[in-house]
Amino acid sequence: MRYLSTRGDATPRAFCDILLEGLAPDGGLYLPAQYPRVDAATLARWRGLPYAELAFEILSLYIDDIPPADLRRLLQATYTEQVFGRPQITPLVRLPDGLLVEQLSNGPTLAFKDMAMQLLGALFEYELARRGEHLNILGATSGDTGSAAEHAMRGRRGISVFMLSPHGRMSPFQQAQMFSLPDANIHNLAVQGVFDDCQDIVKAVSADLDFKRRWRIGTVNSINWARLLAQVVYYFAGYFQATKSGDERVSFAVPTGNFGNICAGHIARTMGLPIERLLLATNENDVLDEFFRTGHYRPRATTETHETSSPSMDISKASNFERFVFDLLGRDAARTRVLFADAIARDGGFSLAPEEFARIPAWGLVSGRSTHADRLKTIRQTWQDGGVMIDPHTADAVKVAHELRRPGETMVVLETALPAKFAATIAEALGPGAPPPPRPPALEGIERLPRRFSVLPADVVRVKDYIERHGQHG
Ligand SMILES: *Cc1c(COP(=O)(O)O)cnc(C)c1O
Repeated sequence: MRYLSTRGDATPRAFCDILLEGLAPDGGLYLPAQYPRVDAATLARWRGLPYAELAFEILSLYIDDIPPADLRRLLQATYTEQVFGRPQITPLVRLPDGLLVEQLSNGPTLAFKDMAMQLLGALFEYELARRGEHLNILGATSGDTGSAAEHAMRGRRGISVFMLSPHGRMSPFQQAQMFSLPDANIHNLAVQGVFDDCQDIVKAVSADLDFKRRWRIGTVNSINWARLLAQVVYYFAGYFQATKSGDERVSFAVPTGNFGNICAGHIARTMGLPIERLLLATNENDVLDEFFRTGHYRPRATTETHETSSPSMDISKASNFERFVFDLLGRDAARTRVLFADAIARDGGFSLAPEEFARIPAWGLVSGRSTHADRLKTIRQTWQDGGVMIDPHTADAVKVAHELRRPGETMVVLETALPAKFAATIAEALGPGAPPPPRPPALEGIERLPRRFSVLPADVVRVKDYIERHGQHG
């Protein structure tokens, strides 16, 4: 399998060539040159495979530059009951209203980002060892991504992590999840500023190409192809659990921010998994809902982004969205470049031509949005009806699933976090007298553990200086 860029750079690259990369050199995103097709006989053969074996079958279609025995070993070490808390890794539970919830949040940081990030850690360590290189991962976080990245990279050879977060602005639980890690290769930099300051510093450091090369600075953000590929697997795993035979079709409802999760669903569907529809759910930050209703894409500025009670979806520029549009446009890289490079820079957005917009239904994508009041109501209803507690992000998708579901449609809602991470919103939804959301035993009392972090001013020079003192040369 070779990879190309959505903006036309067709230099043939293998999986490991793009594994450690972010954007393609032309500013586009990497995609496989074609999607492997899975036929009915293959689907039947995969049904019933353990999760790690299923992952091996799917990833083998996309990766031909890691020996199969090595890939299988990495996957078997990643998707274990020990790490993900359940033998099925992503079990389904049925709600009284008939919706199925696929649990993706039983990993170490209680959010679905662990599903991809844990594998990324294993793949990075493997590839860096093979090359004899060291990578200094630099990131900014306001919560979920940073902790998932640190838990995936902790203790790994050849990798250091420098994670910037806004000092004093994360929840005590989120701080504890990151700051309590004792591993020497994990560096928490608490920046005296807001999340945007952290992100600006990461951008400024990465824009210094000489520094970036000298210190082999890398990222683990959501445009990374390997993260997307890891996420394709749980659509298959969810499908097999929801059906008895490959003749049945299933729809998925997906809480969406950067369009990473649902893009993996789009890829699974294009491969031939019998997915009827993909329901995209946004919160009040509804740029994508607007696009799927109107064909107008207008990314917003950070100042126009609402702070909501499903904070991991507070995104106004969906970084993976270009991948879907590239496929929608028949993989026309020139047209993709016009829309994403030229029109966004010039006009702040773009509108599809009517005949382009008319193609969307064939890809199965529909959308809806949810508000704070909707989330509270959905969390309360789900709790009262069946004694199931769901987190605010999952609630956004349950709300949209209720709204758009057709009679007889099998609907799987992807759970993206556990309610324990968002106890305040759960308490607001359920009112006094309701129990607090349960926390896995391993995380009881983590707020009391010793913390390791360094406070730094919001200053690029000081952050570079920190990396020079604590990083390792590539
Ligand atoms: C990251 C995240 C999302 C959004 O996923 P995307 O892949 O960015 O669309 C939704 N819910 C939670 C809890 C998350 O951490």
